[in-house]
Amino acid sequence: MKIVQLAAEFAPIAKVGGLGEVLVGLSRELSRMGEEVDVIIPKYDLIDVRKISQIKMEVPDFKCLENGNLHANAMWSGISEDCRIHLLEARHPAGYFHRGKIYNCEDDAARFLYFSRACIEYLKLKNEPIDILHLHDWHVAIAAVLVKDLIRLPIKAIVLTIHNAEYQGECAPGNLDAIGLNGSEYLKKLQDDNPARPRTINLLKGGIVYADAVNAVSPTYAKEILTREMGCHLDATLRKYKAKVSGILNGIDQKLWDPAKDPALPKPYSSESSIKAILEAKQAARAAVCKRFPISNNQLPWVGSIVRLVPQKGPELIEAGLRATLHLGGSFLLLGSSPLPEIQAHFETLKKEYAGNTQVVLHYEYDEALSHQLYAALDFLLAPSHYEPCGLTQLIAMRYGAIPIVRATGGLKDTVFDCEDPAVPIGQRNGFVFLRADVTDLLPTLHRAVHYFRSDSATAHAMMQRNMRIDFSWKKPAQEYLRLYRRLIK
Ligand code: ADP
Repeated sequence: MKIVQLAAEFAPIAKVGGLGEVLVGLSRELSRMGEEVDVIIPKYDLIDVRKISQIKMEVPDFKCLENGNLHANAMWSGISEDCRIHLLEARHPAGYFHRGKIYNCEDDAARFLYFSRACIEYLKLKNEPIDILHLHDWHVAIAAVLVKDLIRLPIKAIVLTIHNAEYQGECAPGNLDAIGLNGSEYLKKLQDDNPARPRTINLLKGGIVYADAVNAVSPTYAKEILTREMGCHLDATLRKYKAKVSGILNGIDQKLWDPAKDPALPKPYSSESSIKAILEAKQAARAAVCKRFPISNNQLPWVGSIVRLVPQKGPELIEAGLRATLHLGGSFLLLGSSPLPEIQAHFETLKKEYAGNTQVVLHYEYDEALSHQLYAALDFLLAPSHYEPCGLTQLIAMRYGAIPIVRATGGLKDTVFDCEDPAVPIGQRNGFVFLRADVTDLLPTLHRAVHYFRSDSATAHAMMQRNMRIDFSWKKPAQEYLRLYRRLIK
């Protein structure tokens, strides 16, 4: 089957969060299963092309329309993480992908609309039959509209995956005019459902209306977004198209996240190692963290979060978790930063408050290697999200032997089962879960976790090792995607 994936991220060369990891994990597994997969992302200036093997210019010059002008583009191709990757170089005067970052530019809508149209122009030029055009998130959702209404391509079916329904790509009708679609016409169909946004086109809605299938990244989140409370104003549209909406749980890429071969770790370990060897390797990871930060290497439980600090992730609960962990005698480590200045400023103040405290690390950068060391060094990973489409950090934590403490929402609910929940078979209990996203639910759960760790470390270690063995690979999810693809093209 020939599958083309369009997205804004691909890990590790262009990663902001889970989206980039899904692209690599799913594409690598589908390729391994014998499918023909091509991934197209923008050629951001921040991509280190030396990390892409066999990189070459595939199409030196092709044009893409914007605001009545034809702009030049080139398509590069190569191999990254065993996947065939294509990078769109937009030679656009606005330097759309030369911003030193992937998102959060004022003209994001224009940038990704242009990218979407340019991808379609490239596929038209290639004119090869495609079974599935797989679109990820709002950035490329308009491609479904372009293919169905404007530029006919030999594509059998279009899939849209929603990685986070909060981000929808709102824009003016004029933005659609710019790429050759009649914006006012599309207002009738793709008007944003949020009454606070009149005369606004909603790009994610465009994908939902036009794609042949829509999926969210976990079964629970797929149900949650159909509700008024959690649908981010898209629920009515999603309910209208409910027949084509499903949920497929993400996996984690087993090569990117493998404690047995992780170059960021001082000592390798795996679920096959003895508990003693696992604990020694985790101690070595701790020692590496202690070398870099003034935190004491004690026997206290280490609790931490590796997270984008945005309201969704419960930053106020992370802060409460930090204070409570210290109160319980543990250490807290946070690796995260915020695109939102108020949240960033608040956490900077917190950092000042805890300066000199040898039980706290607050590090506000994006640091891939450090994240690997932390997953290995932590005893507990805290993910107190208000909502979570899937969440990868709890899955990575389990693979690295850190026990998750999570709020029961979305993919967290689908993957973490409380170790005292009588409704769950004992062998499946793998962490600590609280129900409501508030401090009154979080604190006793954190307390339970720390107590469990202290009072019965043998059981805690056994759970840790059992968690490392859970199959969170892409094997099963990729098969589910294949089933979906096959159903669409038969
Ligand atoms: P989201 O995509 O909403 O940010 P996910 O849990 O799906 O959340 O994915 C987050 C990914 O980003 C994980 O791989 C996590 O390790 C990584 N990550 C988050 N913040 C940082 C950071 N500051 N440094 C390094 N990696 C980070």
